[in-house]
Amino acid sequence: MRQSQLFTKSLKQVPSDETSLNAQLLIQAGFIDKLFSGVYTLLPLGLRVIKKIENVIREEINNIDGQEVYMPALHPLQNYIQTGRQDIDVLFNTELKGGSKLVLGQSHEEVVVPLMQKHIHSYKDLPTKVYQFQTKFRNELRAKSGILRGREFMMKDLYSFHLDEEDLNEYYKLVQKAYFRIFKRCGILGSTYLTFASGGSFSQFSHEFQTLCVAGEDNIYVCDKCNLAINEEIIDVQSDCPNCKTKKLIKHKSIEVGNIFKLKNKFSASFDFQVTNQNGEQSDVIMGCYGIGLGRLMGTVVEISNDKEGIIWPKEIAPFNVHIILINQDNESVKVRGEEIYQNLLDMKIDVLYDDRLDSRPGEKFSLADKIGCTKRIIVSKKNIEKGLVEIKNRATGEVEFVNIDEIVQKLQL
Ligand SMILES: [Zn+2]
Repeated sequence: MRQSQLFTKSLKQVPSDETSLNAQLLIQAGFIDKLFSGVYTLLPLGLRVIKKIENVIREEINNIDGQEVYMPALHPLQNYIQTGRQDIDVLFNTELKGGSKLVLGQSHEEVVVPLMQKHIHSYKDLPTKVYQFQTKFRNELRAKSGILRGREFMMKDLYSFHLDEEDLNEYYKLVQKAYFRIFKRCGILGSTYLTFASGGSFSQFSHEFQTLCVAGEDNIYVCDKCNLAINEEIIDVQSDCPNCKTKKLIKHKSIEVGNIFKLKNKFSASFDFQVTNQNGEQSDVIMGCYGIGLGRLMGTVVEISNDKEGIIWPKEIAPFNVHIILINQDNESVKVRGEEIYQNLLDMKIDVLYDDRLDSRPGEKFSLADKIGCTKRIIVSKKNIEKGLVEIKNRATGEVEFVNIDEIVQKLQL
């Protein structure tokens, strides 16, 4: 993409009402725009990152047999009355002109269970797993953590349906592995822990994926010896590690980047969702649900992967892998070479942002490139072009290499 065509402009000043680092960095570099607290527009750069995260998640969930659907965001309140969740404090309530009460979806159990009930009747139809990427609405009292806690946000929610708990437990482990692969590809694996959390009314425990981060709203205890992680809501802070029995539990701030729940028959019982089992008897369908907030994941990456110049994206989710910057573009051969390199990379299907802007000084171009944080930067300047070279800089390591123009693609190592 030609940067001269990008309608967004970087901001010199961070918005004064934005206190969270993730939103400051993302707003300043032109990834997102704040409409009001907890509600953001995804600008072209931000949407590219979200779409890449979405694709990583889609690949990994398809690998564990998820079937993608798209359920509505408008839900009948009646379904929530049926599950007893009509008074959840984050529900946005609304209604049709005729007076029928609706809510804006904050989760989709109340939609997916009646949906699956229409299609699944026998043990032969199980197990089945469906997922979607859909906007969720939560009427949060406070939303001060930038895109970590939105009032409107994109979420991947996966629901699995089983004949018995044994089958659920097996799938639950597969989802854990898929989540670790997702977090690895998004560059946060090293600081992300599978954490024991309260199971609420569903079961004894659930699991959260918590990423250590000073900006996090959660507190977890991690055992320094065996790496067990436990949410503070379920642990006595004086206690020894329940796993290795040592006094090595250390408190950390963290962000919940994913959660997985064994719902068992909680929702199927509310809707009387049963199947005929092998013995010809009716039995409750057993369920699991598994969430990842895409904006929150993006915000977490920004919180833990940055330097004083700006964001450093992991390569799988960078808005662009390569950022070409033209210097001395009043020089004809610089311009011609720059265009050639840009076209070559496009032909190779490499994601490339091309800073062909005429009205910016080199210092401004470099500064903005650091803020945007693409994986590799190619600098095309008069001095180097005369020697048949370009400069390639790695955003994460700062490493600089001078590369023959013909060898750019192989030296990029994307
Ligand atoms: Zn331990």
